[in-house]
Amino acid sequence: MPGKFSFHAPSRVVFGAGRLAGIGDDVARLAGTGARVLIVTDPGVAPLAARAEAVLTEAGHTIETFTEIKSDPRAASIDAAAGRIRDARIGCVVGVGGGSALDVAKLAAAIASADAPAEHYGLGANPLPRKGVPRICVPTTAGTGSEVTRTSVFTDGAGRKIWAWGEALRADLALLDPALTVGLPASLTAATGVDALVHAIEGATVRRANPMADAPCLHAIRLIAGGALARAVVTPDDIEARGAVQIAACLAGLGFDGTGTGIAHAMGHALGALAGVHHGRAVGVCLDAALGWNAVAAPARHAAVARALGAHCDGLAETEAAAQAAPAYRTILDQVGLPISLADTGLAPADAGRLAALTLAPENAPMCAANCREVNEADARALAERLLAA
Ligand SMILES: [Zn+2]
Repeated sequence: MPGKFSFHAPSRVVFGAGRLAGIGDDVARLAGTGARVLIVTDPGVAPLAARAEAVLTEAGHTIETFTEIKSDPRAASIDAAAGRIRDARIGCVVGVGGGSALDVAKLAAAIASADAPAEHYGLGANPLPRKGVPRICVPTTAGTGSEVTRTSVFTDGAGRKIWAWGEALRADLALLDPALTVGLPASLTAATGVDALVHAIEGATVRRANPMADAPCLHAIRLIAGGALARAVVTPDDIEARGAVQIAACLAGLGFDGTGTGIAHAMGHALGALAGVHHGRAVGVCLDAALGWNAVAAPARHAAVARALGAHCDGLAETEAAAQAAPAYRTILDQVGLPISLADTGLAPADAGRLAALTLAPENAPMCAANCREVNEADARALAERLLAA
């Protein structure tokens, strides 16, 4: 019998190769015919944003485009997007891109009705305005799950990677079109897919893990570990594999949205802030360093993860099955070619103290607290040392 938990689901998710062609009707449903639409996108996916713009224009909507987005978006970028929404009286925001573009689209749409800047809402300091501008998320990567989560991650003026959270951040529609992900380079396909896998594993193992979240999280793990991510990396235009990974990322988002993430995301965010390591790679290698250590503290949950990863656990005691999770996870990292060593990032074992301190800093502390195993200073130091020695 599980303890108390809550599970939140978004209003609507649609899926299909070529589904982008129907977005004109989606906008009309949310904001009326002839709506003023702001497409929020990062310059790296300009051709995909242009496709969305063409479809929306054809459907009779008026389009503006906001492209001032980098990965790990800045608070200033969100404020600029919110300003455009206000000034142009935008009726619907369409985020097209990876997690950064979707996070900017969600937060800008949520705060545009008030005057306060994004940082006002950082780390939950103040409640988000109740009524935002309707928004649609169209992911062009398959990883963050941002299209269904109530979180936006951004970088504040001091360079800290922080987050805003709340029901008001939810997208009105998540539009999953796997055809939009076929152009993603292999290294990014691997890194973003590993991010989804880490969301799923952490969602199924953190303190707030529960049966409602287990269902999407464990199935996301099965889809990714069943070969879909490896196929998407090796055969970029395998639309079936792309679709499976995109659904897995969305399922993982549904799961971890209610449970939170753990140590891999705490240390992963610290790695991002310290050395600019891509989020997916960062959380992927951090979980590699922590998974066996975590499994000891929550054997039943990790045994379930090991089985979902495809490890052979027949006849094994629960603690033995749990110990299979870490090697099974590493096998997938190797299959998709995720670099384990961080030597190329400029970090050395001597940086372990700084990395450990940042992992425990206030902006990452909630993720440490959510982890299935308590993380004290010595633990964080030991994990950081293991990670940087790899
Ligand atoms: Zn993540």
